[in-house]
Amino acid sequence: VYILGIETSCDETSAAVVKNGRKILSNVIASQVDWHQKFGGVVPEIASRKHVELINPVIKEAIEKAGIEWSDLDGVAVTYGPGLVGGLLVGISAAKAIAMALDIPLIPVNHLAGHIYANFLTGEKIEPPVVCLTVSGGHTDLLYFNDLSSYQILGRTRDDAAGEAFDKIARVLKLGYPGGPRIEKIAREGNEFAVDLPRPLADQDDYDFSFSGLKTAVLNYINQLKQKNQEVPIADLAASFQRAVIDILITKILKAVEEKRVKNVILSGGVAANGRFRELLKEKLNSMGVGLYYPPPILCTDNGAMIASVGYFLLKKGEVCGMDLNAVPNLRL
Ligand code: ATP
Ligand code: MG
Ligand code: FE
Repeated sequence: VYILGIETSCDETSAAVVKNGRKILSNVIASQVDWHQKFGGVVPEIASRKHVELINPVIKEAIEKAGIEWSDLDGVAVTYGPGLVGGLLVGISAAKAIAMALDIPLIPVNHLAGHIYANFLTGEKIEPPVVCLTVSGGHTDLLYFNDLSSYQILGRTRDDAAGEAFDKIARVLKLGYPGGPRIEKIAREGNEFAVDLPRPLADQDDYDFSFSGLKTAVLNYINQLKQKNQEVPIADLAASFQRAVIDILITKILKAVEEKRVKNVILSGGVAANGRFRELLKEKLNSMGVGLYYPPPILCTDNGAMIASVGYFLLKKGEVCGMDLNAVPNLRL
């Protein structure tokens, strides 16, 4: 089964062909970063225009690189949210045109599901059931997969996302953007237990997360030192903050692993790139005989292959849609 996946939710125009949900035949990604960089962030109007320019050549290249004919396609999967409405509509229109012209199913895909399914594209055979933690700038969700075609949401953050907390603390410590990598770097020179910080909700009997209290504790600590005219120990504070976030994440993952009796854990989203997090989590899971997987960097960021992968599993379940598909900018899992 060959699925064409189309992704235009933010600032990458991407199209890919994936075989049977797992094998990437092509994954063409046109990044618009050069056009947005000078504005310090993604400009929605520029993104929409660039998607319009790039979408046809990118799709054509994806078909050519896959070495298949248009008529080989069994379905077209497209991101319909969450994301920027202008960009989403460009991808959806292209997908509709192809589905109609080839008379094949149109498959609506949630972008966040795409990030999770990126784990299944690495060539490793990850056997369900699995517990999955999605930790990005906008999301902190803990999920349980009984099989690869459906998932259950165990818990999510009640306030800030973990990545958002990293970014905010980095700003306060004047470390720059994006915060996660900057904090990780300076934390290597600090002592993780130098500053006593809370681990909100960590010992609570559910799968919810909360990071705003931790952020406030860091701010209070800084203010107290400033009032006493004392220097802020940046490396120690960064290390202690990072460790607090990691402890919270790991506690909830281990709780889910035990209660759901899974043999594998998968990660997705930018915070999953944190080396200290991976290291500590791996240590714990190894001692329990549980596997840990995370996608390579190219599949962590936005791409069409992950959309095609989700599309395959949705098609198997018959979850296709009609030509009235619309963009849903604030779609959730
Ligand atoms: P979403 O996908 O939820 O809409 P996003 O696109 O901002 O949000 P990602 O691109 O997956 O999310 O991840 C970016 C986030 O990951 C940022 O908050 C960044 O600080 C964080 N991050 C990146 N690298 C690291 C790291 N090494 N340690 C901790 N956090 C990191
Ligand atoms: Mg991003
Ligand atoms: Fe994304």
